[in-house]
Amino acid sequence: MAKVIPLADARTLGGADAGSAAPLARIAAYGPLRDFHELVDARRRPLHDLRISVTDRCNFRCVYCMPKEVFGRDYPFLPQAQLLTFEEIERVARIFVGLGVRKLRLTGGEPLLRRRIERLVEKLARISADVDLTLTTNGVLLGQKAQALRSAGLRRVTVSLDSLDDATFRAMNDVDFPVARVLEGIDAAAAAGLGPIKINMVVKRGTNDASVVPMARHFRGSGHIVRFIEYMDVGATNGWRMNDVVPARDIVSAIDREFPLAPADANYTGEVAERWRYRDGSGEIGVIASVTQAFCRDCTRARLSTDGKLYTCLFAGRGHDLRELVREGASDAQLRNAIAAVWSHRADRYSESRTAATRTAKVEMSYIGG
Ligand code: SAM
Repeated sequence: MAKVIPLADARTLGGADAGSAAPLARIAAYGPLRDFHELVDARRRPLHDLRISVTDRCNFRCVYCMPKEVFGRDYPFLPQAQLLTFEEIERVARIFVGLGVRKLRLTGGEPLLRRRIERLVEKLARISADVDLTLTTNGVLLGQKAQALRSAGLRRVTVSLDSLDDATFRAMNDVDFPVARVLEGIDAAAAAGLGPIKINMVVKRGTNDASVVPMARHFRGSGHIVRFIEYMDVGATNGWRMNDVVPARDIVSAIDREFPLAPADANYTGEVAERWRYRDGSGEIGVIASVTQAFCRDCTRARLSTDGKLYTCLFAGRGHDLRELVREGASDAQLRNAIAAVWSHRADRYSESRTAATRTAKVEMSYIGG
């Protein structure tokens, strides 16, 4: 008969801050932990979203995310053999869906750089009709890929776009990529039926804050939803300072002065963006106040890194090695057990407890998935 591991032991083996990823292998060896009819973490938060990073590489070198000085020619990106294969991703994603996940987001790095990504989309789309399958991209390859992604079963895309001012945009992506090409990608996605399209703009003081109102103006009435994101202290390479953050309330005020806004209800509990609608009926915007109004309380997101580690917080220092379990031959029940054990002990609330001392060893967003 399978031995049941007491939860107290599971905590010492694999808590989010506990350190080594290897102990998960030991958790899995014990068979069914218990029935997870309603899996919640230590703060009663369910597991609803899984973000899957499919590559740690990107064709941009955004100054706040993958600065050139760090991610240069010699940067040791993961070798192919360390990446989860599409079959492995599908298997793990299916188990997450069995545990309650209702939203799968492909990200990276730049997910459209992963060869034949549409084949992965096809596999994930088959898991369940109830799952919202989406992808976050910088838009560079959308013109080429939008139709294939849609045909493979992708429902929506989110496109990152930090400015409509060409000089500002080229300076921020740091590979001199023109904004017009991203706009073409957005049009291609809309034409392929990948809407409603969300446009994510990270706002960094002194860099692109002057682009906030023009961005709102441009997309008002288009049916696309712009979401303004507070610049966060992810990773360890961007030299983040609190001074660089433009608070969401200032962003809302600036837009409201030109285009009056009214608050709108959240679509669902745990939605990261606070919604605002234009009073004249020309659509809505969102603000993501991850720094000034942290939303850990409602956070239902897990992340799967490019090499198959499970992270329970964007700001975690370490992940739990699911690839090792998969490649050691763990059964679906053992994988499910391991994931559930990790989630049930999750207590992360980094953004709510953020202090001036944020210089801990955090993983990079390009690896863990934005
Ligand atoms: N390459 C894809 C893209 O550009 O959307 C997906 C990965 S990227 C890491 C995902 C998102 O994270 C982008 O919208 C990016 O602007 C955002 N991001 C990266 N670093 C950030 C930071 N320090 N604060 C807030 N958002 C950040």
